[in-house]
Amino acid sequence: MRVYLQSVGCKLNQSEIETLARGFVRAGHWLVQACEEADLCVVNTCTVTQVADKKSRQLIRRLRRVNPTACLIVTGCYAEMSPQEVRAIGEVDLIVGNEDKERLVELAESLGRESCGSKAPIPGFHALALGHTRAFVKIQDGCNNRCAYCIVSLARGRERSRPRQNILAEVRALVAAGCKEVVLSGVHIGGYGRDLGTELGQLVEDILTETMVPRLRLSSIEPWDLERSLFRLWENPRLCRHLHLPLQSGCDATLQRMGRRYTTSQYARLVAVARRLIPDLAVTTDIIVGFPSTGPFDSAQGELGTGPGETPDEFAVSLSFVEKMEFARIHVFKYSARPGTAAAEMPHQVPYAEKKRRSEAMLELAQESSQRFCRRFSGRRMEVLWETPHRDDKQAWSGLTDNYIRVMTRSELSLANTIASTKLEGLVKGGMYGEVS
Ligand code: SF4
Repeated sequence: MRVYLQSVGCKLNQSEIETLARGFVRAGHWLVQACEEADLCVVNTCTVTQVADKKSRQLIRRLRRVNPTACLIVTGCYAEMSPQEVRAIGEVDLIVGNEDKERLVELAESLGRESCGSKAPIPGFHALALGHTRAFVKIQDGCNNRCAYCIVSLARGRERSRPRQNILAEVRALVAAGCKEVVLSGVHIGGYGRDLGTELGQLVEDILTETMVPRLRLSSIEPWDLERSLFRLWENPRLCRHLHLPLQSGCDATLQRMGRRYTTSQYARLVAVARRLIPDLAVTTDIIVGFPSTGPFDSAQGELGTGPGETPDEFAVSLSFVEKMEFARIHVFKYSARPGTAAAEMPHQVPYAEKKRRSEAMLELAQESSQRFCRRFSGRRMEVLWETPHRDDKQAWSGLTDNYIRVMTRSELSLANTIASTKLEGLVKGGMYGEVS
């Protein structure tokens, strides 16, 4: 079969799509880049916010419209939590829950035998066929925590870790296929290994010592999982100097309502230690604005922690803490009530217009903060992993430093999938301009 794969949402979904791609190729199928060429389309959906639900539905409808004859399989968190809504879209051939995702190639094959057509093959696939010099490798699934806003822990279930040998084998295969950077992904990677009698630090050490991967990066890690003993791992320069530590709010009262397991001062201390031990570290984060509460929202007043939604004062405290933390990048989310979570039951939700206003203020700060971080490296020489050239301009290249600075350059020679020493010259839209030498 010719297979078209697409995912919505987080890096974990992306890593699953990449694993599925390799599974389909191993089973003798062919990947295509355009859905109209496919016999089978697979969508890995997301439900982290209402916007993610909408994007998932739009993608399913678009695939069906563009290729009405292909088989269509829908999987992922939206399919897991709202299968009836997926069914209501119509003409979806199979819905696969998260638990059955690992058997998806097998399920697709039996569906394909019955109902997918089969166009002529397009040969060849390797790790870079999906357009990545960077591969996301899933090391675990699920989360045992219950943050009040989080639907992912419900959609993905309890924590399960992948055996170490499977992960090492996957990393070796990716490196053999030319991949230069591996990002360890999961719902809660800090929980890795608890069910296997090991831990994340041991896995990272094993990957660094037992594979030749040029760069290894951790995806999001919860602040309470970043034990001091882990910092010694960054003595190895192949481990990227980048920590994504989801803060979610810079106000202690809001953090408490969210069910997060740290205070802002604990978070600030952790970041200070990390920055001291890992020079040039990029600390990136997620922030939710407009978290609800059990008391009424009142835009004119509201004492800290006494109830009414995320009060203007709470938001101001959060904004000021975020500013002090000087993050290299901030992902801002407007709180989105997810059915089945504790926060969705809180009677006092912040009005949408107010969430939008706060999101804009936080985004403005995010941009300033990111530019301040980049400016520190102006004139410095850094190693950049170059990706693919711009679609419409084959001399325009973009890549990432290990500490997550997006760098742009122009080059007539191909830089694709190379790590090159690059002088960072100054700010440009979306990152920095650099000269390769
Ligand atoms: S730790 Fe992360 S995945 Fe787990 S419940 Fe909290 S936000 Fe969700």
